[in-house]
Amino acid sequence: MSFIRVGLQIFGTASRKSLQKVTSVRSISQNFCRRQEVQEQQAEGNEIEGTESNIHSDSDRSKPIPVEIGIKYMKSDAYKETYGLEPIWKKYRRNYKGQFAPPKTRKTCVRQGFIATSNPCPICRDEYLVLDYRNTDLLYQFISPYNGEIIDWNKTGLCQRQHLNLLVAIHKARDFGTISFDVPFRQYDYSEWCNSEVAFSDSKENK
Ligand SMILES: [Zn+2]
Repeated sequence: MSFIRVGLQIFGTASRKSLQKVTSVRSISQNFCRRQEVQEQQAEGNEIEGTESNIHSDSDRSKPIPVEIGIKYMKSDAYKETYGLEPIWKKYRRNYKGQFAPPKTRKTCVRQGFIATSNPCPICRDEYLVLDYRNTDLLYQFISPYNGEIIDWNKTGLCQRQHLNLLVAIHKARDFGTISFDVPFRQYDYSEWCNSEVAFSDSKENK
């Protein structure tokens, strides 16, 4: 019995340590990005009122991140360190009370400019993931490689507001032509307008 207990304890501490590692990596990457941002602004010569206060807290979402920085973040080392090669929603798990998940994901993770939950959705938890029709690297992660459909919130775990933002961004991207997509194949019944027997015999004679 004691052997099993020791084993479980070791497993528990190991999993906790790995979890801490993941969370610390994410906070490091975000802090790294923020610091880079501040340094860039300083290099440009913009006056920053109190650099420390300008670096907002982790849960503050009142200041939206520009798309250009979001696109740069998708290609940065900080992003690769945090997510690797998998889609951003792959390792996210919903957190709910009781045995069964609620029928829908939550309406929104952000209320009055701040994150209002301890388990925000994959888009809300990382403020540098910007849903926009120009940020194609992010949009392709939400499109199924098998049938080209947009992956449901049931699988990705996005909150309803971010899922709506995603739909808008993808439809806009298709309109602007920043992402490619397949037009559904249609099979036409040509016999309806080419009077079959006459037309076919004519074409054969001409050849
Ligand atoms: Zn959310």
